[in-house]
Amino acid sequence: MFWSKIFLPTLKDNPQDAEVISHQLMLRSGMIRRVTSGIYIWLPLGLRVLRKVENIVREEMNNSGAQEVLMPMVQPKELWDETQRWEKMGPELLRIQDRHDRDFCLGPTHEEVITDLIRNNIKSYKELPLNIYQIQTKFRDEVRPRYGVMRGREFLMKDSYSFNLDEGSLNETYNLMKETYKKILERLGLKFKIVKADSGAIGGDASEEFHVLAENGEDTIAVSDASDFAINTELLLKDGDDLKSLEGKPSPDGEGIIEIKKGIEVGHIFQLGKVYTDAMGADVLDQEGKATNLFMGCYGIGVSRLVAAAIEQNYDEKGIIWPEAMTPYEVNIVAIGFDKDEKIAKAATDLYNKLSSMKYEVMLDDRKDGYGTKMKDAELIGIPINIIIGKQYLQNSEIELKHRDGQSSIGNVEDIITIFEHYKGS
Ligand code: ATP
Ligand code: MG
Repeated sequence: MFWSKIFLPTLKDNPQDAEVISHQLMLRSGMIRRVTSGIYIWLPLGLRVLRKVENIVREEMNNSGAQEVLMPMVQPKELWDETQRWEKMGPELLRIQDRHDRDFCLGPTHEEVITDLIRNNIKSYKELPLNIYQIQTKFRDEVRPRYGVMRGREFLMKDSYSFNLDEGSLNETYNLMKETYKKILERLGLKFKIVKADSGAIGGDASEEFHVLAENGEDTIAVSDASDFAINTELLLKDGDDLKSLEGKPSPDGEGIIEIKKGIEVGHIFQLGKVYTDAMGADVLDQEGKATNLFMGCYGIGVSRLVAAAIEQNYDEKGIIWPEAMTPYEVNIVAIGFDKDEKIAKAATDLYNKLSSMKYEVMLDDRKDGYGTKMKDAELIGIPINIIIGKQYLQNSEIELKHRDGQSSIGNVEDIITIFEHYKGS
């Protein structure tokens, strides 16, 4: 993509209403724009990143054997009455009416819709276990939407729901989802902790959250300094205790001592048991031909929140530093004097075509601006590699390869192409 063609409105200064780094950088780098409180437009650059996250999530869910569907965002009140959540949910559930005054809500989650689907279509234990997922827009009328897409009202989630004949099978799917979430976060290149969580009002049994560690995290977690153990501090504090009472205490798993960290919850896996299938009468015939209620699990990942969380973990004073798997483009060719010098324009365009044909995702900065402006923008949007074609090229055919972390090397066009052949090879 040529910079002169892409819709990429970058900002020099920090927008006043953005409190956290990821929100500031997503606005400044032209990834998102606010429509109203907690509701955002994803611009071309931001959408590329969102789609990369979405695709990794999709690939790993498919690898796990889960099957993708797409459920509606608008859901009828009747289904929510069956689980009594129409009443219980409170103002976070956005309720609407159609032209016949019938009640609906915008889906904040899909347990009711999926359980309805399963009870109408699955009759025998032979069709189990099933794990169904979607990647879909959710709406939650959050009390305090903030930090941009980190806590939006409208946001993109991968939610999946498993249906199992017995507890053993539910455990298996739960553990498979846990492994799948680990793979997703590892592929995204993020540092994370798996945190024991409160199963909360929904009831149910096992529940763990996946937290990306970052200073601006909304959650406070206690981690062992000697093992993988991590737990939401809510579960450790007794009435009247404060966090300080934890800072040096031995870790509950018996290894090491507790350290307090900040985390951003990006995923949540949950054994629901029979809460929903009981309420909605979702059963199948078991091996003996007896009707039995299904066990259920639910598993969520905040796809849009992950983009913000990745930035909270990867930035410097110049801008974003994308992990390889999430970067909107892999290479940026900074052509100084593209509009004035045919030799520069030809070299830059040839290299752009060559790298594109090698399946790299390439940007070419063909704008009229000088080196300073172009590099500032490049570092702001966080492309891992910049290739600079300017004066040095005209003088002695040399171009510079500059990594986002500051490392740089000089070579001619052939050298640079050889380097990129190696990258794709490795
Ligand atoms: P939180 O405690 O942050 O409100 P939650 O417990 O309500 O999250 P879940 O119902 O477990 O969230 O939803 C699954 C995932 O969806 C969360 O782990 C999170 O990554 C994401 N998510 C939840 N609420 C929001 C939101 N308002 N904006 C963006 N992502 C969200
Ligand atoms: Mg949660």
